[in-house]
Amino acid sequence: MSNSLLEARRELALANRIVANEGVIDAFGHVSMRHPADPGRYLLSRSRAPELVTPEDFVEYDLDSVPVRDPGVGQYSERVIHGEIYKARPDVMAVCHHHAPAFMPLLATRSDYVPVFHLGAVGGIKPPYWDQQDEFGDTNMLVVKPEEGASLARALGQGWMVLMNRHGVTVAGTSVKDLIFRSVYSAMNAEYQVRALCIGQSIASLTPGEAQLCGQISTKTTGLERAWEYWSMRVANKAGGLKAADGKTARAKRTTAPAAKRQSGKAGKPRRR
Ligand SMILES: [Zn+2]
Repeated sequence: MSNSLLEARRELALANRIVANEGVIDAFGHVSMRHPADPGRYLLSRSRAPELVTPEDFVEYDLDSVPVRDPGVGQYSERVIHGEIYKARPDVMAVCHHHAPAFMPLLATRSDYVPVFHLGAVGGIKPPYWDQQDEFGDTNMLVVKPEEGASLARALGQGWMVLMNRHGVTVAGTSVKDLIFRSVYSAMNAEYQVRALCIGQSIASLTPGEAQLCGQISTKTTGLERAWEYWSMRVANKAGGLKAADGKTARAKRTTAPAAKRQSGKAGKPRRR
């Protein structure tokens, strides 16, 4: 495996742990990146809580969300969200799907997301809503069919965040770090917005012009790197942080599907689905 791919896997594992550590994701939800050497593929962890993901857990998928090699492990059921967005948006390099608690009051009432502070502009001025019911009727609410993922990608359009009515949020980014910045700060904004609504007065949102200018903060200032370093430190300081786990597994396993072998060796233990 090339050094750049190893580094990409490491960055993506850290990204998984960051969004979990910052309260955006728990056992469900997932983070992917477009393959650094092949735009027709993407990397997504096997079915595992993001806070536990290591660089070895990633499965390579084509844009139809079919694994390039049989991973021999459980896979996320909603992976078409990722594949269909990569297919529709060549400029998207990373995708996060989550059900952050901060967003749920908005999603349960189909309320618009409104940027209420400068960093909240990462979600856009009025991100679109998508409801699986509109096109597909009664389902189990999981986005598992390619046509469901394609429908969601159409709703995202050229934006960076789509709100999924009564379900969650899907965020896109120009890089893994850009994605995590958008995911964390849009969730923070949603929490502030809902709290502000509780005061009972009208919300003073950013103007469209302010939102457009503030949306460039992550790409045109040092803010992105500063935030990434801060979040990484918080992950590293946790017991079971990525450094220790990665140091052990990276030296011990060098084959193409180490995670699969390691998992299949645990006889009798149920796999996560
Ligand atoms: Zn979901």
